[in-house]
Amino acid sequence: MAVRVRFAPSPTGALHIGGIRTALYNYLFARHYGGAFILRIEDTDQSRHVPGAEEYVIEALKWVGLIPDEGVGFGGDYGPYRQSERKAIYQQYARQLVERGKAYYAFDTLEELESIRQREAHFAYNHQTRKQLRNSLTMQPEEVEDLLQRGAPYVIRLLVEPEQDVRIQDLIRGEVAFQGSELDDKVLLKADGMPTYHLANIVDDYLMRITHVIRGEEWLSSTAHHVLLYRAFGWENAMPQFAHLPLILRPEGQGKLSKRDGARFGIPVFPLSWKGATPEDSFLGFREAGFLPQAVLNFLALLGWHPGGEQEVFSLEEMTRLFSLEHISKGGARFDYDKAKWFNQRYIMATDNAVLAQYIRPLAEAKGYRADQPYLEQVAALMKERVSLLPDFVEEGYYLFEPVRAYDDESIRKKWNPALQPVLEAIADLMPGIQPFDAPTLEAAVKALLQERQIKPGEVLPLLRLALVGTMKGPAVFDTAALLGPAETAERLRRGMAYFLQCHEMAAR
Ligand code: GLU
Repeated sequence: MAVRVRFAPSPTGALHIGGIRTALYNYLFARHYGGAFILRIEDTDQSRHVPGAEEYVIEALKWVGLIPDEGVGFGGDYGPYRQSERKAIYQQYARQLVERGKAYYAFDTLEELESIRQREAHFAYNHQTRKQLRNSLTMQPEEVEDLLQRGAPYVIRLLVEPEQDVRIQDLIRGEVAFQGSELDDKVLLKADGMPTYHLANIVDDYLMRITHVIRGEEWLSSTAHHVLLYRAFGWENAMPQFAHLPLILRPEGQGKLSKRDGARFGIPVFPLSWKGATPEDSFLGFREAGFLPQAVLNFLALLGWHPGGEQEVFSLEEMTRLFSLEHISKGGARFDYDKAKWFNQRYIMATDNAVLAQYIRPLAEAKGYRADQPYLEQVAALMKERVSLLPDFVEEGYYLFEPVRAYDDESIRKKWNPALQPVLEAIADLMPGIQPFDAPTLEAAVKALLQERQIKPGEVLPLLRLALVGTMKGPAVFDTAALLGPAETAERLRRGMAYFLQCHEMAAR
């Protein structure tokens, strides 16, 4: 049987980064077995529907490159893939269960149930309490018929008998058992005619021929009712296998990572930035923080999965080849942002300069910097080993676009010596005559001059660097000068020297 898996987010807000991990595992599983990866939008809870959330999911999947084979916006033979467009289907199946005696009508109003809850904190609508409540199990058939005829509001509930124990073999967690006596009679169809998550989810997994349900651990407890629904429909033979993914834990390892943790720790916990109605509901995304999508996928893949061995950097193809549910851990995985940045650094280093230039362009343009492709490619070449986030190219490497903003005085005091001034001046004078103006030619010319004057390069090169970029860090000094060009290099040497002198005098006073 061909593998078919689905990613089934509810558009109730921005999709948390854990959702992308779920999508990734589904994608890898589908690809590994040559199956289909499906995007289903579970939007039956109208009260929690947030405009733009569905578009967000699709954009996030496209950004990371997890393109569904079927789904909202992607076509396919099992549509519609948006649950709000399948209302009639769920109603028909809910009624089918009532006819088969597996579900029943319940007419209790919200107020009635609320007042019971006020009296009994642990009230559950179940095999015991339902005997005292207003439903088609306790009422006369004529009365039920009459209420339905008159259009009285009702819900349809699943009939759960106490002896209906459930045992599943979760592909990650192993055997998980639930006692029927502890399960309530879940609502399947709400008073507004919309299905609940449980009904819609099972009907769709069945109709869409889903073979494996791979989802977050928070859905494990719902699985008991899901299995009961398969039984009630008589679909047990078509029941998918379940795999519940471990939680993603906070950076400090305590508790589940929540959407609020992003702001708390100053890190992104969403794939893309999201602008909600309030600042508290607005979030920074990995994309906007300057991550490459492949790095995000690699980082997420290892939050709970590892194929064994020492390797950590995997391309999507490699992950696909190596993926298996057996290598997913049961325990939660700590969300280590530094590790995410480490992956990003790796991926930046391995990315073509031409591609990096395209990522840098909007960042450079936003600052009003020079942003032509050849120049940005050289910036990429010089900086790619030294940055971990894309904005670092224009922030840490600002001096490749504008004059030095600040000098590292302490290093200047250590390196500067007024006797070197004529040497630096001579180097500045040399600039216009160097042809071609590239790093090797420049280096040869400067070193020849130093040799002639019997000065060790170690005395002067740090000063060149300080004059060009302001600090002792940064790319190789002759490469930097070559990129800046003869006029700018000479200009920075002169401006630097003036500053060094000033700094020296201040220190001498
Ligand atoms: N709509 C559910 C969610 O938001 C889907 C859970 C499942 O995969 O069954 O995650």
